[in-house]
Amino acid sequence: GAMRIDVVTLFPELIENCLRSGVVGRAQERGLLAVRTWNPRDFATDSHRTVDDRPCGGGPGMVMMIGPLQAALERAQDGDGPVRTVYLSPQGVRLTQAKVAQFARGPRLVLLCGRYEGVDERLLAHAVDEEVSIGDYVLSGGELAAAVLIDAIGRLQDGALNDAQSAEQDSFSDGLLDCPHYTRPVRGALGDVPPVLLSGDHAAIRRWRRKQALGRTWLRRPDLLARTELDAESRRLLDE
Ligand code: SAM
Repeated sequence: GAMRIDVVTLFPELIENCLRSGVVGRAQERGLLAVRTWNPRDFATDSHRTVDDRPCGGGPGMVMMIGPLQAALERAQDGDGPVRTVYLSPQGVRLTQAKVAQFARGPRLVLLCGRYEGVDERLLAHAVDEEVSIGDYVLSGGELAAAVLIDAIGRLQDGALNDAQSAEQDSFSDGLLDCPHYTRPVRGALGDVPPVLLSGDHAAIRRWRRKQALGRTWLRRPDLLARTELDAESRRLLDE
């Protein structure tokens, strides 16, 4: 069945619009991924549909209050099987491809998007399993971060990518950056395609690509190389 992801957000249209196109839009059309949104505003109890309040202790901005958010979260978490509830937050663990792959294996995800100064800490302590950050910068809300996470998970679903191998070749899946890519024309004003790629020698092409991947990882992201357990072929290529 489809991988289901529930998102608690004040801006459901932001999530939906981010995920309509391309591979992840198609994954939803194919029934591989089902994204549902829950708006805390629909769970507010006053006539103004209030979801935020002033911070205790004073200071600028507003804080998402417990009541409507907890009600929305409980509806999102409701259903069969275990759920993993994630708060998108600049204070969370940094998202990596390894983490994305782990999320893709389940259990079902419930994503909580903050706005304003954030969420009342007591709700986070009570209802959230982990916090995830998409990088060391501050967004105005968790929606784009949730969409990033869902996009990365969605394209890993079986049948989402047309070429089954293309996810394996991508950067990070084997701990290295991807090799460079070329297409026709093979000669042009901007230069020629590397001849080995036109040689038809598949073993030579594979070696060249691996060398390129190793080379650019070494140049651009030596931190990745230090953490990667290289296979015998890669170690041999590095020694050449
Ligand atoms: N006061 C909070 C702090 O400094 O930790 C930041 C609040 S931010 C303006 C509003 C919301 O955006 C947060 O509650 C969170 O859901 C989301 N957000 C901001 N930056 C993020 C990031 N780097 N990764 C994931 N979510 C982020």
